[in-house]
Amino acid sequence: MKEKMLKFIDLNKQNPPKRKTDKRKGDFLEIYDEFINQKAKEQSSRCSQCGVPFCQVHCPLHNNIPDWLKLTAEGRIQEAYQISQSTNNMPEVCGRICPQDRLCEGNCVIEQSGHGTVTIGAIEKYITDTAWEKGWVKPFKVKKELKQSIGIIGAGPAGMACAEELRKSGYQVTIYDRYDRPGGLLIYGIPNFKLEKFVVERRTKLLKDSGIKFIQNFEVGKNKSLNELKEKHDAILIATGVYKAREIEIPGNKLKNIFPAMQFLTASNRKGLGDKVELFDNGTLNAEGKDVVVIGGGDTAMDCVRTAVRQKAKSVKCLYRRDRDNMPGSVREVANAEEEGVEFVWLTSPKKFLGDDHISGVEINKMELGEPDASGRKKPQIKENSEYMINADLVIKSLGFDPENIPKLFNAEELVVSRWGTIKIDLETMQTNIDGVFAAGDIVRGASLVVWAIRDGRDASNQIKKFLQNKIKKNKEEKAA
Ligand SMILES: Cc1cc2nc3c(=O)[nH]c(=O)nc-3n(C[C@H](O)[C@H](O)[C@H](O)COP(=O)(O)OP(=O)(O)OC[C@H]3O[C@@H](n4cnc5c(N)ncnc54)[C@H](O)[C@@H]3O)c2cc1C
Ligand code: SF4
Repeated sequence: MKEKMLKFIDLNKQNPPKRKTDKRKGDFLEIYDEFINQKAKEQSSRCSQCGVPFCQVHCPLHNNIPDWLKLTAEGRIQEAYQISQSTNNMPEVCGRICPQDRLCEGNCVIEQSGHGTVTIGAIEKYITDTAWEKGWVKPFKVKKELKQSIGIIGAGPAGMACAEELRKSGYQVTIYDRYDRPGGLLIYGIPNFKLEKFVVERRTKLLKDSGIKFIQNFEVGKNKSLNELKEKHDAILIATGVYKAREIEIPGNKLKNIFPAMQFLTASNRKGLGDKVELFDNGTLNAEGKDVVVIGGGDTAMDCVRTAVRQKAKSVKCLYRRDRDNMPGSVREVANAEEEGVEFVWLTSPKKFLGDDHISGVEINKMELGEPDASGRKKPQIKENSEYMINADLVIKSLGFDPENIPKLFNAEELVVSRWGTIKIDLETMQTNIDGVFAAGDIVRGASLVVWAIRDGRDASNQIKKFLQNKIKKNKEEKAA
């Protein structure tokens, strides 16, 4: 093993090269080039093959990272792919967009010893992209068809991962989604420059070709109630994500050209997919030539500022009430945005939106950081008499998401939710308070990550299988009695 692995002392860490800034600003393509085979092998060989792999412990899917790195270093990519896909339904998606610095790579032991982490995410992407290219990723064949059926509400990563695992066991699975395309935030939230849409579409096609039924433009609550779906299926999974944008309650917030982040990003993603989008086509939601101000400091805000850059905005400013060290967005995404020309205005908060009919500017308060709050982060407070004004033709609000009122939307007032509106589940069975109704992903956790949605979807599939097996057993016992 020594010969192939543990090369971190002689070999420096290398990520796949980023495309030049002025090139990538001019299109919506992903910003990292592919690893070439030799580089993927070399970089994999830096792994120290720890006895207790902390990368694996800190990956929400507990991916068997050391094993697939070793196989890649040996050039055994097909075997690496088999291992990688056995714990992850979308390794090429996670390889692209997981915040690795906070998960697997952030816990890499050779990083702790100052050698620079193994580039786990980039290698995971390389393995599965190669598998797609070589035709190793194929629709799966079900060994034995089962009669029981499951209705899944939401075609995001949580719903799709659960559907895949159930279908592999032979169950009949239907996914209902209110959008016209499956993928959830993978398709309409996350921009192309982080995740090109063909990557999501080929996954969806794979699931369709494996016998999962997708019903699009179907909104539960509108087209059918939760109870009606329950009657149709033996079990239900709610995986609807969180979509209610948090508001900014300041004067002027009803002025025209102030939009929530998802409206801006969805319009841009739809354009990329070739759709007609009236508000974009008439210029309203297009940042071209405009002074754009994005309010917020999370990853969604980073996606908005970088989308505005690519739409050729005149200027793009990001207002955040804390400083760089205290911002929630990933360090990697902030660096990418800065390289692309975004101006971060740290320690600022909007006081008033200015304008007659349309927005023309934002009055801003400067902030300072006080004592840490309950979360341990320093609390921002307004600096007295610090107001100033900046120009703005388009303002994007990106202050986070809350759950919609699911019991009301689903005509199921009996469904119990937490005080934040997320669906309450029994943490062991993943079942809600309604028998046979399970929930997973952001609608349970609150806004989170793709990798956690996949994990939840997989866990839910195991619990649903147990529930359905028990149902058959009970039926048999009742008949026998
Ligand atoms: C802009 C943005 C960028 C992000 N970037 C990253 C990133 O880089 N890395 C990362 O790991 N995570 C990122 N995330 C978070 C990640 O996308 C989510 O955590 C993840 O998609 C949650 O998956 P989910 O399946 O629970 O929900 P979603 O992906 O939200 O899918 C829910 C689905 O349910 C459907 N639905 C909702 N209500 C109904 C209804 N009543 N009837 C029928 N269907 C319904 C929706 O149409 C949607 O398709 C980002 C989020 C946003 C908003
Ligand atoms: S799924 Fe995410 S956290 Fe896990 S190994 Fe892949 S990139 Fe790392």
